[in-house]
Amino acid sequence: MARVAFIGLGNMGGGMAANLAKAGHDVRAYDLSEAALDKAKQSGCLPMGSATDAVRDADAVVTMLPAGKHVRDVYESSVIGVAPSTAILMDCSTIDVATAREEEAKAQAKGYRMVDAPVSGGIAAADAGTLTFMAGGTPEAFAAAEPYLSLMGKAVIHAGGAGAGQAAKICNNMLLGASMIATCETFVLAQKLGLDPQTFFDISSQASGQNWSMTSYCPVPGVGPETPADRDYSGGFAAALMLKDLKLAQEAALASGAATPLGAEAAQLYALFANAGHDGDDFSGIINFIRGQKG
Ligand code: NAD
Repeated sequence: MARVAFIGLGNMGGGMAANLAKAGHDVRAYDLSEAALDKAKQSGCLPMGSATDAVRDADAVVTMLPAGKHVRDVYESSVIGVAPSTAILMDCSTIDVATAREEEAKAQAKGYRMVDAPVSGGIAAADAGTLTFMAGGTPEAFAAAEPYLSLMGKAVIHAGGAGAGQAAKICNNMLLGASMIATCETFVLAQKLGLDPQTFFDISSQASGQNWSMTSYCPVPGVGPETPADRDYSGGFAAALMLKDLKLAQEAALASGAATPLGAEAAQLYALFANAGHDGDDFSGIINFIRGQKG
C-alpha cells in the first residue's frame, strides 16, 4: 500500500482521506484546523504537524483546499521540491484554470507528474466515495492518479491537458447555475399563471424543457424526488460555493474572450442571493428570492 499525503481535511477532504485510509493506504494527513486533524485520526489517518512532514517520502499527494491562493501557497512552500519527484500530485480543489496551469507547469519543470482533478458531488458523495472526478494532465499523470481517485469516486474522467479538469468543472457548474435559475423562474411564472407545480413538473419533465435542475434537483418542495427543497433548502450545495464557481467561470470567460451572457447574469443573481444572508442555503433556494422580486 502507498504512502499518501492528504492536505485539507475540511467538509470534502475529511471523507476523501478516510476513504483512502479505508482502502489500506498509509494516509499522512494535515490541516490547519486541530478539529479536522482529530477527525482524520479517528478515521484511520495519521495526523502530521505540517504539510511538509506529510509530504516528505509520499508516493502520492492529494490537496483539497478552499481556493487557488491556498493551493499555490501549499504547493510552493510544502510540495514542490519536498515530495519525492516520483510522487503523483493531485489537486482536487476547485480553483481557477490559470493557477492550475501555472502550478502544473512548475511541478512538471521539477520532474513531477500532476493532475488538476476537481470533483462533482457534495459532502455526502465525498463521505460515500461516490464523487465524479474530472482530471487534467498528461496521459501518464492521469494513469498514475486514476487508481487513487477511483477509491474516492464512482467516475474518473480524463478531461484533457493541464487545467482541463478545472475548465470542465466551471463550465459544468456555470450551466448548472444558469439552468437552476431558469428552472426556478419557470416554476414561479407557472404558479402565477395558475398551474399546479406538480402538474407542470409532469408536463415539462417529459417535454423539451426537461433538465437536471428540474427532474433530479427540483427547487419546489414536494415535487419530484426528495431534494434540499424538501429540507428547507439545507444540506445540499451551498449558494456560496455556486457563487464561487460562477465567479471562476466569469474570470475564465474574460481571460479567454468567450461571451457568456447567461453565466454573467447567473453570477450576479447568486451574488445578490448569497449576500442577502443565504450563502449557506442550498443553491436551489434562489427560487424564493426570485419569487420575492417584482417583474
Ligand atoms: P472546507 O473549507 O470545509 O475545507 C478546506 C480545508 O482546508 C479546511 O479544513 C482548512 O482548514 C484547510 N486549509 C486551508 N488552508 C490550508 C493550508 N494552508 N494547509 C492545510 N490546510 C488548509 O472546504 P470544502 O467544502 O472541503 O471544499 C474544498 C474544495 O472542494 C473547495 O475548493 C470547494 O470549492 C470544492 N468543492 C466543495 C464541494 C462541497 O459541497 N463542499 C463540492 C465540490 C467541490
